[in-house]
Amino acid sequence: MTEGRGHRWAGLAAGLCLLLGTGCLGSRSRLVAEKAPLETGLGVFQLQVPPKKPEAAAMLQRALQNATPPLMQWGRLTHPVTVRLQPDHGALERVTGRSGYTWLRAWARYELLDVQSPDTWEPLKASQRDLDELLLHELTHTVMFQLAASSSDWVQKKIPAWFREGMASYTAEQAYRWPTLEQLARTLEDHPDWEPLLQPEELFEQQMEVAYGASHHAFVFLVNRYGQDTVQRLLHAMRQGPGFQEAFATTVGLPAEAFVRDFTRYVRLRGFKGGRLLPSAQALQAP
Ligand SMILES: [Zn+2]
Repeated sequence: MTEGRGHRWAGLAAGLCLLLGTGCLGSRSRLVAEKAPLETGLGVFQLQVPPKKPEAAAMLQRALQNATPPLMQWGRLTHPVTVRLQPDHGALERVTGRSGYTWLRAWARYELLDVQSPDTWEPLKASQRDLDELLLHELTHTVMFQLAASSSDWVQKKIPAWFREGMASYTAEQAYRWPTLEQLARTLEDHPDWEPLLQPEELFEQQMEVAYGASHHAFVFLVNRYGQDTVQRLLHAMRQGPGFQEAFATTVGLPAEAFVRDFTRYVRLRGFKGGRLLPSAQALQAP
């Protein structure tokens, strides 16, 4: 679920797997490719699953089906995606080349998605609903990468963490996991120098929930202010060549950094409090 750090290492992981070739998974986690690809309205998925996990494999198939309608608000996959059901957390860490990240449940790339088998999540094994939410979040990344870039230049687009995670959290309706706007405003009062979306690297490591919450709310702010079609045009613009910063400026009409500062100001000044009296109204009511 919380895979922000994972994405930043996507290039490294891809390189690692390339280097190790098919031996990347190690002998203890050999997966078997399902004979027929799974096709949903979103695209084509080739599943690779452990031979002794038929229930988990069935849950994964359901989650892919369930993720399809909400993801189609953005578009369709342009390339088939290989989905590997890793038998346990250790196997997931091996394929991502990291250790000690107990929170990691999945890792999305352009044409590849690794998912930890739902029966091995801790402290509780995942329900279908948990897996649905995870897949929806992760596949949002994959859809975004495919709509915005080719398989060879998706890492170079430099899509910032706030946009990647915000879009995924927005699509998977994960606001309930993160601080509210009011909690975020209070956190920013405690840290007057913070620009949570401009220095996300430290924040994702030290204050993960604040970083995800700020990303989620910033993406909602973007959609509310500029429209969902602007997000689609932004992805399409990147596909034509420019990176995120350039495409954002031409599509949204202001630099991404200016947007981020607008959002932070909106949180700090509690612009989300619709019932708050405007200064002029306060003046009228003054004794
Ligand atoms: Zn994510």
